[in-house]
Amino acid sequence: MMSELIDNCPLCAGAKKSGITVFSVDLGFGVVMVRNVPATVCSQCGADWISDEVAQQLESIVEEAKLKHHQVEVSTFPLSAPAPMQ
Ligand SMILES: [Zn+2]
Repeated sequence: MMSELIDNCPLCAGAKKSGITVFSVDLGFGVVMVRNVPATVCSQCGADWISDEVAQQLESIVEEAKLKHHQVEVSTFPLSAPAPMQ
């Protein structure tokens, strides 16, 4: 079997692939959702894994959302690829 850097899903042994997931956290007073989060996703059961780097960025998004104190805050993950400004 050809496994490269990515190993198989520990839950179902399905193949992991890079993809996009939605991260959500309940802060008590409200919920923060971050869409478009880069993750490793199991192609079989849909379990996802987020890298430390991404997790750190999510943390700062959550911190920001806490300050806003909205009941529902939906963000889109700021991809590192340069976004066109115009
Ligand atoms: Zn799986």
